[in-house]
Amino acid sequence: MNISEIIAFNTQIIFILLSLIAIVDYIRHRDPRRRDFALMATALGFPFALVLLRNLQLFQSGALDLAGAFVLFSQPYFLFRLLQYFRPSRPRIGIIIVVGFLLSCALLWFRMVSNPALTVVLIFGYCAVVEAYCTLGFYRGMQATVGTLRRRLWIITLSSAVFTLAFVINVIKAQFPIIAPVTTPIAQIASAVSAVFFYVAFVPPRGQRLAWQMEELRDYLLQTRIAPASEAFVSDNFRQLSQGAKQATNGMAGGVLRLNESANEWDILAATDQALFASLIQNGQRFINQGWQHRQTMSRSLPDIADADERRQLRTLGAQTWLLVPIHNQERSWGLLIVALRDRSLFIDDDLKILELLVRECILVLDNHRLIDELQDYSGQLEHKVEERTAALQRSNEELRRYAYVASHDLQEPLRTVTSYLQLIEQRFPDKLNEEGREFIKFAVDGALRMKNLIQDLLMYSRVESRSHTFTLLDMQEVLDKTIQFLEVMLAETDAHITHDNLPKIIADEELMIQLFQNLIENAIKYRSAKKPEIHIGATCKDQHWVFSVRDNGIGIEQQYLEQIFIIFKRLHIADEYPGTGIGLAVCKKAVELHDGRIWAESEVGQGTTFHFTIPIRELAS
Ligand code: ADP
Repeated sequence: MNISEIIAFNTQIIFILLSLIAIVDYIRHRDPRRRDFALMATALGFPFALVLLRNLQLFQSGALDLAGAFVLFSQPYFLFRLLQYFRPSRPRIGIIIVVGFLLSCALLWFRMVSNPALTVVLIFGYCAVVEAYCTLGFYRGMQATVGTLRRRLWIITLSSAVFTLAFVINVIKAQFPIIAPVTTPIAQIASAVSAVFFYVAFVPPRGQRLAWQMEELRDYLLQTRIAPASEAFVSDNFRQLSQGAKQATNGMAGGVLRLNESANEWDILAATDQALFASLIQNGQRFINQGWQHRQTMSRSLPDIADADERRQLRTLGAQTWLLVPIHNQERSWGLLIVALRDRSLFIDDDLKILELLVRECILVLDNHRLIDELQDYSGQLEHKVEERTAALQRSNEELRRYAYVASHDLQEPLRTVTSYLQLIEQRFPDKLNEEGREFIKFAVDGALRMKNLIQDLLMYSRVESRSHTFTLLDMQEVLDKTIQFLEVMLAETDAHITHDNLPKIIADEELMIQLFQNLIENAIKYRSAKKPEIHIGATCKDQHWVFSVRDNGIGIEQQYLEQIFIIFKRLHIADEYPGTGIGLAVCKKAVELHDGRIWAESEVGQGTTFHFTIPIRELAS
């Protein structure tokens, strides 16, 4: 085999393979366009298969050679048929091409022209003219389109131009056989490459198709506005979808319709051509309804529309094909995307696929938008509720505080009267009272005293928050000294012993700090065990906080109560056992929290309790 034979052999293989692939593709999808492409590919592959078989010496038959030639001459006709899908020619042209084809066959069969060179010129001349006509058609179509459709038509235009050239070369070669050794391999290589491109453009392999779809989708997404939530957002999106759909399929117009169920009418949500869609609604109600009920992507060409009246009316709109894609997901239906094509689509499956992709993207955007809206609504409501509740809580807290203050303040006076008169009775009428009477009066005075303590503690509790606080640089050593002074009598009576670390200076309110130390030390003494009370005040620095501790060697507290003791009125003992009101630790907690600190207790029953509280280390605000 020499070089030109190798080239010829490879070319034959390529053509044969492509025709086989095209046939398989048609068998799998069975649509008219694929059928015509398979026929065109076979028109190229079949003659080469015959040449191959002959070269392999498998048969020798002039009749089969002729058959191969007839099939080859039909290629321009099938290309012409493919062109009709999106740029229909006048019927006359179709007839001329068919007649030309039949004449070519007759010319060869009947050897109508005695000069073989002239026969070749006539037949290949015919092929070249039809091929050139188609090339021009595809070129014009390409110019009127954008996006990947344009690219596909470009490839087809170039491929059919190369085929035209190959036919022309054959014509020239018939006149000047001397150039054959050079032109034949060139024409073969060029036409083989073009055949591959034909294949890629008409029935692209899956990967290529996906790549084109992605590109189309990307273009659409780049145009999609990332808009903030707004009323116009949905209609903006549909406008973009209509525009994108029109562009991706090279349609005449695109639009989104929605069924107004109460009025049983279709509303236009967006359209690139309002007038066209308005008359579509008027003239094509039934056909739109069908598309809507079908609930799946579909295409309708005018001949598919059963009703003659409707068909006539739709024809006046100037579109041959309508593509319909419902815009819905499981939860919701938004409407129906409709694209009008002037003619039939050359790549109908791909067009429908890309429309589905655009619709899916649009649904995603709308869904996200809805979710964000709902979330914003929800958080708005939540915020509002929290504000309302906080205000109500503040109000009731305030009222409660005022009430507690006023009540405890006003209760003191009558209580004093009761106590004094009870004591007066005891002093003035000692003879009139027997032992029991005196005991009753003692009970009454005790009760009044307890009530007085309770009132005082309540007053203290409400005052902690109600009075204004002054945060100054406080020497905690001095605070402790003052507290010890207040408790002097109590300490002496119980023989309590207080030790302490070096105490720091902190920014705090003096009165609250004294109150805090006082309550904790009082409790340490009150809840002492049989041992002599030993109290230690500690201070360490940790994580931008001072951690103070008040440790005692008293009765201790059971683990389960360590948190509850800070709740107001919570007491672990009856009054007879240990007098008290259950307010002291609640006051401590409030005092610490007013300083943005925290208070907690650790304890072991029988060993003692340690109260810790933190005060943040701060600079004094100037
Ligand atoms: P009160 O002392 O008036 O009862 P507090 O609020 O000061 O109220 O204390 C609440 C409860 O916590 C007390 O009733 C007591 O049982 C327990 N408690 C407080 N301090 C100590 C302590 N140092 N040791 C043991 N128990 C304590």
